[in-house]
Amino acid sequence: MMTAKDSGPLLWKDTPQLRIGPVARVVMAAVVEGQYTFTVPDELAAQVEPGKRLLVPFGRNRKPAPAFCVAVGREPWTATLKPVVGVLDDERLLSDALIELGQWMARYYCCPPGRTLAAMVPEPIRRQSGFRVVRTVHLARGRSEQDSWSAKRATVVEVMRMHPEGLDLETLIEHAHASKAIVSAMIKSGLLSVTTRREPMPAPNFDSPGTEPVFELNEEQRAAITRIEQATKDGVFKALLLFGVSGSGKTEVYIRAIRSVLAAGKQAILLVPEIALTTQIVTRLASRFRDVAVIHSGLTGVQRSLTFAALARGEKKVVIGTRSAVFAPCPNLGLIVVDEEQEASYKNQQSPRFNTRDVALKRAQMAHIPVVLGSATPSLETWCNCDRFSHFERIILPRRIAGLSMPRVSVVDMQFEQRQRKGVHLLSQEMEKQLGETLAAGQQAVLFLNRRGYATYLFCSQCKTPIVCLNCRVNMVFHQTTGKAICHHCQASMVVPKRCGDATCGGTLVRFGMGTQRLEEELRIKLPDARLARADSDTMRHVRDYEQTIERFTRREIDILIGTQMIAKGLDFPFVSFVGVINADTSLAVPDFRAAERTFQLVTQVAGRAGRAESSGTNGGPGVVVQSLSGLSPALQFAANHDFESFARHELVIRQRLHWPPYCRLARFLINHKMQSQASTMADALAERIREYLATQALSAEVLGPQPAPLSRLRNQYRFDFLLRAADAGQLMKILEQLRHADGLIPHSKNIQIDVDPVSLL
Ligand code: ADP
Ligand code: ZN
Repeated sequence: MMTAKDSGPLLWKDTPQLRIGPVARVVMAAVVEGQYTFTVPDELAAQVEPGKRLLVPFGRNRKPAPAFCVAVGREPWTATLKPVVGVLDDERLLSDALIELGQWMARYYCCPPGRTLAAMVPEPIRRQSGFRVVRTVHLARGRSEQDSWSAKRATVVEVMRMHPEGLDLETLIEHAHASKAIVSAMIKSGLLSVTTRREPMPAPNFDSPGTEPVFELNEEQRAAITRIEQATKDGVFKALLLFGVSGSGKTEVYIRAIRSVLAAGKQAILLVPEIALTTQIVTRLASRFRDVAVIHSGLTGVQRSLTFAALARGEKKVVIGTRSAVFAPCPNLGLIVVDEEQEASYKNQQSPRFNTRDVALKRAQMAHIPVVLGSATPSLETWCNCDRFSHFERIILPRRIAGLSMPRVSVVDMQFEQRQRKGVHLLSQEMEKQLGETLAAGQQAVLFLNRRGYATYLFCSQCKTPIVCLNCRVNMVFHQTTGKAICHHCQASMVVPKRCGDATCGGTLVRFGMGTQRLEEELRIKLPDARLARADSDTMRHVRDYEQTIERFTRREIDILIGTQMIAKGLDFPFVSFVGVINADTSLAVPDFRAAERTFQLVTQVAGRAGRAESSGTNGGPGVVVQSLSGLSPALQFAANHDFESFARHELVIRQRLHWPPYCRLARFLINHKMQSQASTMADALAERIREYLATQALSAEVLGPQPAPLSRLRNQYRFDFLLRAADAGQLMKILEQLRHADGLIPHSKNIQIDVDPVSLL
């Protein structure tokens, strides 16, 4: 901010109302755009600091409202400015670096700034949960010379004289053998004075040093660590993609790289995706460090608050956690690691709709430190960035740790299979055979059903051809509410025809839904002796339920574990030698341009689970069967061959041709209203306004839509959406800023959600 020295033109000096004095710049905590300036009255000057919340007169009736202070300074101001009326926090909630990051998020993710700052310091931290109030007692000056006190009071004064620096209330009572009443009376009469401060209780401790592995790092791991260490020494921003198949030793690289940062006296953040078993994984990782803090959704408010406080004081050196750990208040950050950087769960699904990985990159860029992005299946955005930007770099771990073999993956075309058999089967013959052999050999199996495999699709009952969108070539989803089939990609919709589109077939259409329940029924018929357990959101309400099921599976009380992709992560079972994927068709389930990429990721991740076992499998090596309802897509074939690079090359050509990310940037506008006509009109008007604006600008951007959203009705609201597609992030930001500032669009108001870089188009 400006200071008094550069107070500018002489002209101003003659203006009678002009004053120069301390002012605070704030963003409102409510959903309000922009920054506001207030004067700081003398009596609050010592307390007003950036990163604290203030009370400021706001709105038409000037009612005091909470706001985050983002800067203080001296500035010329006129009498029209109103003064700050109160300070809500004793301590700063946010450092300068985090305020800057929050303001960047507000701009980039098109979100009111108060909301991004509030998201960085959740409620328990604002309340300082887990802090206790410490009262320090002092002897009031000048009053201690009298000697007409009672004996009890005299003792108190005597003890106080021995502690000119002050004593906390409890200690005084104990040392002077005084009652609380006496001390209170002395405080009341002004003999003693009291100051209070809030002090955190000790943060939860996760130091439980686990056993150190005995192996030597292999050559590639050592090279990777050397490269990361070099980047931290250089003191510049770098994004290092650590690319290696599951079991190639990435986690070991993170651990050693972080230790080396800690040894240099700095702090580090290790981010993991939010999954059902996060607690277990985090605890396992935490056992490799000392002074470690963990942050995940299972923490209580008090634990969270104390953990943040310990990090801010520098007592905790390393943070392991999910999304919100990226905001850990580390004053001395040296490295951020993002494990499984492609994970969709890194995206915050409510406002502010940030992607944790991208916020991590921004934070690192501001702090001039490196980020390690780890993955066996990097996002195509990251993969492409390594070719585009010099600050992105690949580090490759080309093979599995010696002794672990890659699983054999077979892909089954269920369309072909269905044509050969009567009835609709969820298990192919190959799957049935391998499952049977696995159980006969006394080993365990895991079956995955795609998480979103609950949608209803339309197929021809005879030739099994699904209804496909002519624009996008993805299967259309049947919508009960409208009775129409909708493409979740381009949003085209059609009245469901009675008969197969293939004139030579002309079969009747059937609806086909797939859920875990149905799978369980089929398994009970086909493998009546197998002990089954389901781990899905229907049967598991709490993390504890997952953990119990996993424990039973570990104790081998279960033969076949059925679950969604949720359980594909972080599982390490020695006796699992077979993994089956019932429906790898994310093109059916997640109808979006990332369908192929998600399919590749799913199959790779699941296959990685099978191979971590040292058991032999039924005939040499662990087995994986992947079933596909939509034929043998290239994504499946590449995944079966464990060939990410060829997949990326193939898929990027398609993305470029169709102008999808990473060859553009998207913002998705979602309009809700309880009246369908209102929602539709609002969407049309907004899309039209943006189109008009684009027409006046030399920008390469366009609006796609609007149309009913794939989830066209949710919680009694009708939903319409459209996409804003721009050539790059700079252009997208420019358009969004224009809409916010000149057009008065309030993003994330009740009816409009804007999702920048969406990971799902549902
Ligand atoms: P990733 O994170 O790539 O899946 P991990 O780091 O978890 O791989 O390593 C896979 C397994 O191999 C783990 O059990 C790990 O302890 C072990 N491991 C890692 N590095 C080595 C090594 N250099 N020698 C022997 N075993 C290793
Ligand atoms: Zn047909």
